[in-house]
Amino acid sequence: MDKQDYLVSLVVPCYNEHETVETFVKTVDEKLESIKDHLEIVFVDDGSKDDTAAIIERLQKEDERISLIKLSRNFGKEAAMSAALDLVKGDALVMMDVDLQDPPELVLEFVRCWREEGVDNVYGIRTDRSQDTETKRMTSGGFYYVFNKLSSRVKIPSNAGDFRLIDRKVIDTLKQLPERNRFMKGLFAWPGFVSKGIGYKRPERVAGKTKWNYWKLWNFALDGISGFSSLPLRVWSYIGGAIGILAILYMIFIFIKTAITGVEVPGYASLMSAILFLGSVQLISIGVLGEYLGRLGEEVKGRPVYVVSKITGPLSKQVKNGMSVTPVGVTCNLEKGKEDHN
Ligand code: UDP
Ligand code: MG
Repeated sequence: MDKQDYLVSLVVPCYNEHETVETFVKTVDEKLESIKDHLEIVFVDDGSKDDTAAIIERLQKEDERISLIKLSRNFGKEAAMSAALDLVKGDALVMMDVDLQDPPELVLEFVRCWREEGVDNVYGIRTDRSQDTETKRMTSGGFYYVFNKLSSRVKIPSNAGDFRLIDRKVIDTLKQLPERNRFMKGLFAWPGFVSKGIGYKRPERVAGKTKWNYWKLWNFALDGISGFSSLPLRVWSYIGGAIGILAILYMIFIFIKTAITGVEVPGYASLMSAILFLGSVQLISIGVLGEYLGRLGEEVKGRPVYVVSKITGPLSKQVKNGMSVTPVGVTCNLEKGKEDHN
């Protein structure tokens, strides 16, 4: 693949990141000096309540390669990434966190793999997770294991995050996926194409705090599994079948025993265990049904995953003026006085 004149869009979702944005731009300038003419930075402000957007707008005055996609409220990182996928125009896109946990210098290697080796999906793999707690490492390891066991076709590499470069053809494929459940790690893997992982050591956040907690991570894991496997739904027929067979065997056993030894009143313990066990199995299966049903409801409603309220910087000139609707989002790019009334 020969891409002499190429543009890489660095996509950076931000939520309440006033402490990190400026350092991010400085570090990127420094570390990616050698490809600076081929780079644009697209910040997605995910409804920050602090002055993140104001800082980005100030930085735009000093650097004309910076664009800002402003969402109308906080929609979550997955939605912010979806908005960027729909809007950026680069020949390739690199997803990066603003907290510098995704080392910018690795982007050089991503771009090299993309241009010279023709890899379409270059992703970073965290080889050293010593910054994470033992519990976090164990739970995330468990998640990747379960996900890949349950999802028969789409496999996600363990310890790969959102930090990656994807080629235009992967971007255009992803833009066709209409689902509201944006489990991006899975979606990034879904199109296939030539993929390659590159190991790196994940540093600590430069400033600020993580936006994740265990409850959010648990729900994120459920989104991932329900989005890529229906096995948790189907497995209950088998569990029910197995318990049914055991029940019949036990019934035969009781019949024979009663025929031989006569009626015996005691049996409270076994009765209680059976009732409680079956009760819990039924509740779990209804719960699993609920998980899928709730998500199905979201899909049926078909509400946009994100709403863009404003675009500034070079990107605003490339995006159609007025309101535009994609399979997953709504974009308002209204220049004052030039509203599109069609
Ligand atoms: N982020 C976002 N919307 C949110 C939460 C986070 O755009 O609702 C951004 C955040 O600003 C950062 C990236 O997603 O650039 C990763 O967030 P964080 O560092 O909190 O996640 P972690 O690295 O701990 O997984
Ligand atoms: Mg982080």
